[in-house]
Amino acid sequence: MTSNNRWCDVDWRTMESKAVKGIHVLGDATLSAAGMPKSGHIANAHAKVCAAALVELLNGREPNPNPVMNNTCYSFVSDKEAIHVASVHQYDAGQGAIIPVKGAGGVSSTRSELEGAYAWSWARNIWADMLG
Ligand SMILES: Cc1cc2nc3c(=O)[nH]c(=O)nc-3n(C[C@H](O)[C@H](O)[C@H](O)COP(=O)(O)OP(=O)(O)OC[C@H]3O[C@@H](n4cnc5c(N)ncnc54)[C@H](O)[C@@H]3O)c2cc1C
Repeated sequence: MTSNNRWCDVDWRTMESKAVKGIHVLGDATLSAAGMPKSGHIANAHAKVCAAALVELLNGREPNPNPVMNNTCYSFVSDKEAIHVASVHQYDAGQGAIIPVKGAGGVSSTRSELEGAYAWSWARNIWADMLG
């Protein structure tokens, strides 16, 4: 089901495989878009875009033409301090691709305990989101 004998190229509006119609692919298995990381957070975002698109398709409607996905990754650098990287990606119909949104996202200016607290909040939120 791969597009380059390695990863699955998808339509970023629906996460549908370009190689096999009717199959939707999420997470690390996808052929990464420009600037898009492989992460648990972005896999969760893939799933949300996919689920929303499937609801539209199953009801005979067009999916959102410009879906947005975001990513945040925290890394602890001590038992209390963390750093992060974040990015936002939006489908551009003109380019037929999902591209990083200019000026959105970024990286930590410095390690801090405050970021460590944010990292735990991120973790609790995504666990609640995914695991209920
Ligand atoms: C060291 C490390 C640190 C990371 N830190 C972060 C972080 O801080 N934040 C973040 O968001 N992401 C982080 N990531 C990335 C994140 O773990 C992955 O992007 C995410 O797990 C991808 O989810 P997935 O469901 O697409 O794939 P996976 O989690 O890899 O799940 C795929 C599953 O399919 C199973 N599988 C494979 N082949 C078969 C088969 N033939 N039949 C049946 N099952 C099969 C595998 O065993 C696996 O369980 C980190 C990754 C690593 C390695």
